[in-house]
Amino acid sequence: MFTINENYLSLPHNYLFAEIRQKVEDYKKTYPQIELIQLGIGDVTLPLVPAVVEAMKSAVEEMGRKETFKGYGGSQGYGFLRNVIAESDYRKRGCDISADEIFISDGAKSDISNLQEIFSVENKVAVCNPVYPVYTDINIMAGRAGQYDPRVNRWRNIIYMDCTKETNFLPEIPKRVPDMIYLCFPNNPTGAVMKKEELQEWVDYANQVGAIIFFDSAYEGYISEKNVPHTIYECEGAKMCAIEVRSFSKKAGFTGLRLGATVIPKEIRRKGVTLHSLWKRRQETKYNGTSYIVQKAGEATYTKEGRRQIAEQIKYYMRNAKKISTTLSTLGYTVVGGENSPYIWVKTPYHMKSWDFFTYLLENANVVGTSGSGFGAAGEGYFRLTGFGSEEDTKKALERISALPL
Ligand SMILES: *Cc1c(COP(=O)(O)O)cnc(C)c1O
Repeated sequence: MFTINENYLSLPHNYLFAEIRQKVEDYKKTYPQIELIQLGIGDVTLPLVPAVVEAMKSAVEEMGRKETFKGYGGSQGYGFLRNVIAESDYRKRGCDISADEIFISDGAKSDISNLQEIFSVENKVAVCNPVYPVYTDINIMAGRAGQYDPRVNRWRNIIYMDCTKETNFLPEIPKRVPDMIYLCFPNNPTGAVMKKEELQEWVDYANQVGAIIFFDSAYEGYISEKNVPHTIYECEGAKMCAIEVRSFSKKAGFTGLRLGATVIPKEIRRKGVTLHSLWKRRQETKYNGTSYIVQKAGEATYTKEGRRQIAEQIKYYMRNAKKISTTLSTLGYTVVGGENSPYIWVKTPYHMKSWDFFTYLLENANVVGTSGSGFGAAGEGYFRLTGFGSEEDTKKALERISALPL
């Protein structure tokens, strides 16, 4: 008789965005004539830029000709893409990362989810709170979270680093010592950023206690301020303790195309074995590589035209984000984010619970956002909006919110 991985039984019932989708569907069923504006789920809305589309077209042509057809491409990814990433994202910034330390993936979410399997289940995990729910859920599935305590909405073996107004929405070094630390800056959901000196403290701490940092840089492309590191390897010693996970999703609109890259420096080792070699071994067995066509699309984002075109898209989203944050501030809401990230983290008015405010906005402004408590207990009393909508929708949503009696 088979048995199942019972860790799955203790997972939160729904993935957060599935829950929102359900609530929206239910509302639409009851009020089919009402036009909802979605500023909730973190998905881009602009189409792929021309440079990317052209690159894919010619890659498709290549695949259709005998002389240029490509079969299995190798699990680590093509050299042309790893080289341009190493050069443009690292060496140009003075970071000594080689193409061989980069693994091309089908996105950040799968790599973040899979990377934990080369680590022991005994490791203690630290996450920010609120947090991108994936970091917690994957460790619940793997059996690292321990018992769930419903009274406080926390897992006993997970170390939560609360990021609240009091901490300037940044994590503080936890009292319990973690082995695996998940960091994401610019942050989803709060939009907060770490300055270089602040991230350096985490690198120093990880090296001191022998922890690994998983640095999720999904929003790197949205950084506008100086002194905000574009990669964790700008910090001294990061090559001894950090894995960086990159994504083309939010930066170049690849959410439906699927492309990411993960950097594992060869210096990081335990018991004489490098993490790089473990991951390489894992990928060779379990992954057959990202499609050639998509890797060519990724390469095109580094051409002069490609860069210019995706920079325009990011500007467009950031104009929306700015508009949301300034309008809500003017209305008297307390907001953070929206400066180096497409996310705006809004304090709910009158101490409303996050899901109450979700329902209030849905019913009274017909605007869909994301409940802050869905990102963890410390997100209670907050609400996330995104700049990923269209300019027209964003404007309309803000008009509706402005008309509310609150
Ligand atoms: C959107 C998002 C991802 C997902 O990236 P993919 O490359 O599309 O898998 C990863 N991390 C964070 C924090 C995100 O917001």
